[in-house]
Amino acid sequence: MDASGIRRAFELGGSLERPINLSIGQPDFPVPAAMKEAAAEAIHSDRNGYTVTQGIAPLHDSIRRHLEHDLGWNDADAFSTVVTSGTSGGLLLASLALLEEGDEAIMPDPWFVLYPQLGHLTGATMVACDTYPDFRMTAERVEPLITERTKFVLVNSPGNPSGVVLTEDEVRDLASLCRNRGVQLITDEIYDEFVFADAARPDGTCPSPARFDHDALVIRGFGKTYGCTGWRLGYAAGPTWLIEQMRKLQQFTFVCAPSPLQWGVIEAFDIDNSAQVETYARRRDMVLDALSPHAKVVRPGGAFYAFLEIPSSLGMTGTEFMERAVERRVLLVPGGVFSGRDTHVRLSFAVPEPTLREGLDVLVDMLQGG
Ligand code: PMP
Repeated sequence: MDASGIRRAFELGGSLERPINLSIGQPDFPVPAAMKEAAAEAIHSDRNGYTVTQGIAPLHDSIRRHLEHDLGWNDADAFSTVVTSGTSGGLLLASLALLEEGDEAIMPDPWFVLYPQLGHLTGATMVACDTYPDFRMTAERVEPLITERTKFVLVNSPGNPSGVVLTEDEVRDLASLCRNRGVQLITDEIYDEFVFADAARPDGTCPSPARFDHDALVIRGFGKTYGCTGWRLGYAAGPTWLIEQMRKLQQFTFVCAPSPLQWGVIEAFDIDNSAQVETYARRRDMVLDALSPHAKVVRPGGAFYAFLEIPSSLGMTGTEFMERAVERRVLLVPGGVFSGRDTHVRLSFAVPEPTLREGLDVLVDMLQGG
């Protein structure tokens, strides 16, 4: 495992006095008061011990209600759920359950940093699906990569680092490809609540392959949606045979997700975060307005990232651009951290607008050769 890319960005940033930090991967708004109170109440009323490995029953009930409403998963006997230690916990348990040496799994390139490590951790090979230049992991791009060793296809929409949201047609095609080829589909939907109006379905929800494949494994988190990344809470929902293996693995690893915090998120699905999403959509527009005239940046339909291509006229890799930006106090993450190629940088717009404006001004100047 090579942590050097991210470590280097942190080291460089650590020495700055007043950094303009556009490298942040979490929302910049506080946890809703109702959730804080529910978690504090659980701590004060001594609900601090282990829970059952799969998570507390009232949380399962609200997850199921949410999945029925959101994905139309209304056959309660057709799937199971497990509360996990973050989305990372769900991804790890699923990979431990499905992969062994000699197996393959397909992931997008660019990827979320954990994905390639799932191969190192299990002895399997993570096969990268090249999604450049538009960052769309379509059925056409995935199909040629499927072999008799492929155990799952992992899709992430809205995507990190690009913010790209697949369309309803694209997720439907991906779901039917996986079904026809008998390959498990895993959908990492950690940013499902951060989808902007122009990329959302007419009812405002995020296109998901799980609406078309009720055997998909859906992995989601509470951290990004409600600003509580440190609570380490997520959930997985999917075929009972698979969730059972994940529960068994959780029993001997994480044991259970943090227990008072499970009580804290029971009511989470009732909280309306549309104001935050609108704020992020506005900041997305600020990023596009500022940078698009000077460089290629694919329009993010969700999440809070943009993946900026470094113009070839500058003759710099993503890492070199990142290093130059640090000299001007702007922190970014180089594309090589998320990809087999180092041609882009990721910037996060989960920062207050004055900070974003300041950062964008520097980037525009750099893109103009300054
Ligand atoms: N998947 C993606 C695509 C992510 O961006 C992240 C966090 N940056 C995770 C999973 C892990 O999230 P968690 O903190 O819930 O483990």
